[in-house]
Amino acid sequence: MESKIETHHFKTEIQQLLNLIINSLYSDKEIFLRELISNASDAIDRLRFKAQTDPEILEGDTEFKIKLTPDPKNRTLTISDNGIGMTYNEVMENIGTIAKSGTVAFLKAAEQSKRSGSITPEMIGQFGVGFYSSFMVADKVTLVTRPPGSEKATKWESSGDGSYTIEETTKPTRGTTITLHLKRPGRGEQDFTDQWVIRSTVKQHSDFVRYPIVMDIEREELIPKKEDLILDKDGRPIGKKTRKEVVREETLNSMKAIWAKDKKEISDQEYEEFYKHLSHNWNPPLEHLHIKFEGTTEYTALLYIPSKMPLDMLMPEYKHGVQLYCRRVFIMDNCEDLLPDYLRFIEGVVDAPDLKLNISREILQKDPLIRNIRRNLIKKVLELLSNMGVDKYEKFYNEFGRILKLGIHIDLENQDKIADLARYRTTKSNGRLISLKEYVDNMKEGQDAIYYITGEDLSLLSNSPSLERLKERDYEVLLMTDPIDEWVIQSLPKYKGKPLKSAEKGDLDLGKIDKDKENKYLPLFNYINATLGFKIKEVKASTHLKDSLACLSGDRDDPSAYMRRILNSSGQKLPELRRVLELNTDHPVFAKMKALFEKDKDNPVLKDYINLLFDIAVIGEGGKVENPSRFSKVVGDLMSSALEV
Ligand code: ADP
Repeated sequence: MESKIETHHFKTEIQQLLNLIINSLYSDKEIFLRELISNASDAIDRLRFKAQTDPEILEGDTEFKIKLTPDPKNRTLTISDNGIGMTYNEVMENIGTIAKSGTVAFLKAAEQSKRSGSITPEMIGQFGVGFYSSFMVADKVTLVTRPPGSEKATKWESSGDGSYTIEETTKPTRGTTITLHLKRPGRGEQDFTDQWVIRSTVKQHSDFVRYPIVMDIEREELIPKKEDLILDKDGRPIGKKTRKEVVREETLNSMKAIWAKDKKEISDQEYEEFYKHLSHNWNPPLEHLHIKFEGTTEYTALLYIPSKMPLDMLMPEYKHGVQLYCRRVFIMDNCEDLLPDYLRFIEGVVDAPDLKLNISREILQKDPLIRNIRRNLIKKVLELLSNMGVDKYEKFYNEFGRILKLGIHIDLENQDKIADLARYRTTKSNGRLISLKEYVDNMKEGQDAIYYITGEDLSLLSNSPSLERLKERDYEVLLMTDPIDEWVIQSLPKYKGKPLKSAEKGDLDLGKIDKDKENKYLPLFNYINATLGFKIKEVKASTHLKDSLACLSGDRDDPSAYMRRILNSSGQKLPELRRVLELNTDHPVFAKMKALFEKDKDNPVLKDYINLLFDIAVIGEGGKVENPSRFSKVVGDLMSSALEV
């Protein structure tokens, strides 16, 4: 067959990734085998899933297995599967051309940690380099693959040094065969052409893979042959037998579905290895939850909470969801219907014996059994989280809190429970995260609301002029710095009967407003309003300010300045929103401005000061002044007149 060999260059990010893998001092090189076996097992899963609707693709071969073939003489190790294989285009896309989402973020993080030392296993684990981990042990990798029903196969080869070749070829059986041309093992390193090394690596990392992982084992067997028999004097045989080398295919893994075993029989190590296989994450999980539901319907779930957020979890294309089984038969991966979006960090397996085997993704959502399981899983996961020790929970929350909090908005049925799990820093917590319950327990007498303020910077928020009156009363304020906080909190009108109120928007209802005083200032306020024109919505006496001169606020339902900055930077065009300029009428400046206004309202100083008030309010909330040189000039003039002696 005539075939054209093409040479392509790796996408830059992938080559950078390869360099990192090849040159990093990562010590647990053996996990490359787990990665390749997991890929092979996934490929068989996918074939079987497809075969449910199209049994022809099995081509009569249903003896699914993953075969390992070491060749010590040529220093190669071959991993082959009879799974779904890849077309030419799929090989091009999956390997070498399209970097996995999160690659750039990973490389950036790796670059940083390289500066401070070597790249840590934890980091690689968080990202999971999959197929590319082959290059930890091999200096050349050859992949030959053929999808079922296709005449053409594809050969891909690379030494990991910038380019790869790809060509059409033939392959008698469907599936993928990967040949690793192994580097010579360094001192103290394992030799992966050694059967015993392979056997123990499989046992340790891939024991529960649900397909047989086989290897040809050569053994000397004693085979008696009639003519060889030596008889004793009484005619009884006493030996001699011929020794013969026989090759048998042996299965290296037990294939036990770990979730189906009794909890007591499973060691922590087994739980951990299963997680690593399942999640393609190399770090141990933070927590696992193994539950058997027994009732009208029975099912088992083994769920894990990762210890670190995978780098691609926040990408839109991230696929979440657990694996769904029916009586240990794999049905589908990433079953999103079993867990809501706000628990998308959970990895695991659900085995539901009563499920219909050929269920499709479309009808899954409406299946009453699935909905029942989903409701129970949510309940159990929320229980697990609320019973976690403080330190562990804080670790969890730092990684996944911002995903979990979405539940307050999404899952109204469990809103209270999720609100119990939310944590915030406050004006009084000294950087510590506290719960809403703790906040409510510490509320002052007479305080009838939970106050919060949103923005990007903790110190800016805790020093915001809008909080002055609240601080005067020693009220605590939640400091919300997550971009989604404002959006989420608007779905939670009350917590334990206490309304949640923005500390920066709308009026604070802390006491009576002195109407007489307000009326006295009305002409000046009208003048300020007219001077600032379209820049503001209105001018009013502030209920927030105690020491500062001015701040900007909005109506209760207006988005905060922070929210607007986020939306703007995400490219959304927002209609112009005019803010309210709040002034502190208790401040002596206003008595003086009022006097000047009444005496000489055309005095240019008055206009300068009005603009200055506006700028001060903008600066107070971390914004930028519109005209820095005017600002600087007015302040300069002010200083020199104040210093006149
Ligand atoms: P991941 O497995 O995390 O997606 P990999 O780099 O290991 O990342 O693999 C990239 C893709 O290549 C896989 O998603 C899969 O589509 C394909 N692939 C890898 N190994 C195999 C295999 N043995 N059979 C079929 N497809 C495979």
